[in-house]
Amino acid sequence: MQIIRRPDAFTLKMDRLRRQGKRIGFVPTMGALHAGHMALVRAAKKENDVVAVSIFVNPTQFGPKEDFKRYPRPFQKDCRLLRKAGVHFLFYPTAKVMYPEGFKHSGIWQKPDPKRDLTRYLCGRHRPGHFQGVRTIVAKLFNVARPHRVYFGQKDYQQARIIAQLIEDLYFDAELRLIPTVRERDGLAISSRNAYLSKEDRKRAVALSRELFWLRRKIRAGGRDIKRLRREALRHLRKAVDRVDYLEIVDPETLKSLKRAQPRMVAAAACYVGKTRLIDNVIIINSKSN
Ligand code: AMP
Repeated sequence: MQIIRRPDAFTLKMDRLRRQGKRIGFVPTMGALHAGHMALVRAAKKENDVVAVSIFVNPTQFGPKEDFKRYPRPFQKDCRLLRKAGVHFLFYPTAKVMYPEGFKHSGIWQKPDPKRDLTRYLCGRHRPGHFQGVRTIVAKLFNVARPHRVYFGQKDYQQARIIAQLIEDLYFDAELRLIPTVRERDGLAISSRNAYLSKEDRKRAVALSRELFWLRRKIRAGGRDIKRLRREALRHLRKAVDRVDYLEIVDPETLKSLKRAQPRMVAAAACYVGKTRLIDNVIIINSKSN
């Protein structure tokens, strides 16, 4: 595996491979790699000739009170995992090179048109500026790598939708592949932030997936009153964790909250267990709603 730190060097490499007719799969990450990331890597390996992964803890997507400084950075371990998985290139830039001074003033930082602004919902309401930071770094990474396919996890469903929109808006010639959430045995979605949880908190954290699975089961079994079901799941989640940011049933495309059941829905939630913020979601396919 070749580790590349400079964007221009990375672009040159990828360009050369593309000219040779190689298909390039790209997996952007913030490192602290786990089984969820590795599922993305495996999918990329299967579908492409060349796999590039990036590790960059992106400062612009963290709020001032968030965990940017203490975000785990086990670089050597990450490299070992990537090598073992047969990754060809690791792009590992510095913040200075990704954000030369004054960068925030360029256009990608702008909020999209309110009518189609997916950052208004779910996590976007609780993490102001977060998705602008995500859009910015992803646009930069796509411009540097110019991959054929890009891999994102369903675990960050809203992020994946926002990136799909970014690809459309900026005419990126990349196909977005959404990979199902990888979970622990008890259902907790695997996340780099799970490492923050104490033993006690880890036990309580299972409530997040439990309530989402409960909702999915109820709706699939014919539960029509999604307003009531949502309220009930929310009540249970509030009891189990320290704070709930949201628990919503939304349209998979627009991310708007739903009042009535429809054929495809996403139930998504975010909560705090101790000081750790956790998110999760499930896609609900409800054939009985029409
Ligand atoms: P992160 O390093 O947290 O920015 O995540 C990098 C990519 O891995 C994102 O596309 C995430 O959605 C994805 N990812 C994180 N956790 C999981 C998981 N448990 N299952 C599948 N994908 C995941």
